[in-house]
Amino acid sequence: MLAGVLYGKEELRLEHIAVPSIGPAEILVRVRAALTCGTDLKVYRRGHHAKMITLPAPLGHELAGEIVEVGAAVRSFQIGERIVAANSAPCEQCFFCRRDERNLCENLLFNNGAYAEFIKIPARIVERNTYRVPEHVDYREAALAEPLACVLKGMDDTKVRPGDTVTVIGLGPIGLMFVRVAKISGARVVAVGRRRTQLDRAEHLGAEVLVESRRGSDPTEEVRRNTEGGRGSDVVIEAVGSPHAWRQAVSMVRSGGTVNFFGGCPKQTVVCFDTGRLHYASLTLRATFHHTPYHMREALELVTRGELNASDFIVGEAPLADIVTVFQQMAAQSGRLKTVIIPPG
Ligand SMILES: [Zn+2]
Ligand SMILES: [Zn+2]
Repeated sequence: MLAGVLYGKEELRLEHIAVPSIGPAEILVRVRAALTCGTDLKVYRRGHHAKMITLPAPLGHELAGEIVEVGAAVRSFQIGERIVAANSAPCEQCFFCRRDERNLCENLLFNNGAYAEFIKIPARIVERNTYRVPEHVDYREAALAEPLACVLKGMDDTKVRPGDTVTVIGLGPIGLMFVRVAKISGARVVAVGRRRTQLDRAEHLGAEVLVESRRGSDPTEEVRRNTEGGRGSDVVIEAVGSPHAWRQAVSMVRSGGTVNFFGGCPKQTVVCFDTGRLHYASLTLRATFHHTPYHMREALELVTRGELNASDFIVGEAPLADIVTVFQQMAAQSGRLKTVIIPPG
């Protein structure tokens, strides 16, 4: 089968490899839609990701497809069913799983290889984090469940209340999903981004205030001007992953407000904050990593209800044969929206 295999830093190759063989509790899925993701781009640029993948390996983790083979012990799924499988599943036994913090599972089992004709879903993911896709939901929409699950986990952690002003910094696919989900939650959304096209999208998704952040300028004042009495935003979601944006997030939030540092910065990044600001303004600083099976189910539910349109986050489509070019283009322009990769067949 055809697959995009990552060998190291910016070394993605389109190859013919064997179709994975499955064990008794596993399933084999014909990939119908795989979405590009900022995390895959990060792995591509750095050539490694300690938690998620060991190279060389087929890349890609946001997928939906059709079951073509089931192991003898699988009872819950059948050949021909349309499914979405998460890229991980928790162990249910470790310290964190026992405390209902499954995103932090110490034995999180990851699965990659969505940029391929077929992908094997390991037993634990079959059992705990694979879902049937309703007929009226297309594959590309279903594949949005994984990134959306991360966003829903972030919203849960941030505890947004209806009527809150939520400022989202960074309008890539994740930031735009936050705009949409915050809007659905009844928040008033302020979107901060660089590109006009992305700001327009944020407006289309429900943002009421658009703030253009130019290189070298600080959008803090403009955000504050758009809050009651200039006090600042009730909630700020940082969806960039840069120290600069982390600092901006803290400067935009109101006293008693909450910041979620959703964007992961490069390894060993250190950010300094004024302790007086954190303490006397009683700020809540949160960060969210990954998702849980609960949030995967919620995400698929949201997509099924039609509350999110795939076309708002996915801008392009490319055959699997073009996977290398797609990544080269992504590397040249970060913050791009998603491309859906369609394998042959
Ligand atoms: Zn992803
Ligand atoms: Zn665990």
